[in-house]
Amino acid sequence: MSRNQQLFEQSQSLIPGGVNSPVRAFGSVGGTPVFFKRGLGSRLWDEDGKEYIDYVGSWGPMILGHAQPDVIAAVQSTAANSLSFGAPTALELEMAQLITELVPSMEQVRLVSSGTEATMSAIRLARGFTSRSKILKFEGCYHGHADSLLVKAGSGALTFGQPSSAGVPPELAAHTLTLPYNDVPALEQLFSQVGNEIACVILEPVAGNMNLVKPTPEFLAALRTLCTQSGTLLIFDEVMTGFRVALGGAQQLFNIRPDLTTLGKVIGGGLPVGAFGGRADVMSSLAPLGPVYQAGTLSGNPVAVAAGLATLRQLQRPGFHTELAARTQQLTDGLTQAASEAGIAFSAQHVGGMFGIYFSQACPASFAEVMQADKQAFNRFFHAMLEEGVYLAPSAFEAGFVSIAHSDTDIAQTIAATRKAFSRLHA
Ligand code: PMP
Repeated sequence: MSRNQQLFEQSQSLIPGGVNSPVRAFGSVGGTPVFFKRGLGSRLWDEDGKEYIDYVGSWGPMILGHAQPDVIAAVQSTAANSLSFGAPTALELEMAQLITELVPSMEQVRLVSSGTEATMSAIRLARGFTSRSKILKFEGCYHGHADSLLVKAGSGALTFGQPSSAGVPPELAAHTLTLPYNDVPALEQLFSQVGNEIACVILEPVAGNMNLVKPTPEFLAALRTLCTQSGTLLIFDEVMTGFRVALGGAQQLFNIRPDLTTLGKVIGGGLPVGAFGGRADVMSSLAPLGPVYQAGTLSGNPVAVAAGLATLRQLQRPGFHTELAARTQQLTDGLTQAASEAGIAFSAQHVGGMFGIYFSQACPASFAEVMQADKQAFNRFFHAMLEEGVYLAPSAFEAGFVSIAHSDTDIAQTIAATRKAFSRLHA
């Protein structure tokens, strides 16, 4: 038995499902999850010493690759001065200055420790500010695991066929309205009926938790107009897209100014940091200034913030995002080319440094279309790639991530592995 298998068996008796976050368990693709020991740049090594090219990047944060020297140095030097104070630090101010400069719609910002905390707090703030209870989200979008947001959710909730979670009181879930992504007529109809009862609309401005689905320009424009007309706050959940699809996030790429934005992943460079922020008049409703309570013992943790700052500074290098997007396109072009050579129904697309691969003829534009892709083909492809030393997200419902550390050689090796994997799909 391999060490991976041994570790998984032992873990299952002590940790529910053997994992600390559901998708890690390979429930959707089957088989034994990989236990990782080490990462460097684009590469990972598991407990059995097998090497992989990594396209998960810890689900987004590792945009510079693993163990990036400047980030590690920042963590080490900050840690030497204590791991936590539970009091304000100059580092947090520096982070707030950088975020508000890079994402101008965020006039004020508060740091938290995860994406879930960021979205949960933004929703509470929106409800407190507007004195309304209803919120609107979109099918297949995942915004973390707060009660109000686990309704028709993507990611692990989708992977396991439980778009709504047990343990969420129906009375609370009733306040969460859901609509299909990219459906402008449905949006217009809902707003004409109850627009002035909706506290906020939250969306992934590029959906990355039902595989990858791009927003249409009409959808984003309609959202902005309808929210403004009915006094509803528009929340861009940029936990995944922030600093990844462009330096200023999806809102910069699509030129839409949300009222509130949530951040996570890249902002901590691999340590637990999240953030929410936006209009100063809205943010001043937060305690200690206003009536909306929100807090955190480790919020703004110095070591985590130092890792995030060291990461964000590198992203400011001119050309960083162009290079990252070009590298990602090299990957998606290579994959589609290999698929067409092999005669496999397959499509792929990317937005900046995030990508989607689909076992369907065309890229999907909605949750319903994502569900039509061939999930069995994905699962077989996933395992064939894993064997070839390419680590993809272990689910057909997750976006993939490329880091700036991925080289031409990495991409070429990945495409060579894909050719082999595709030939096995035929076998
Ligand atoms: N929002 C989005 C768009 C996400 O992708 C995620 C996590 N994948 C979250 C929120 C929740 O973040 P966390 O896992 O850090 O709580």
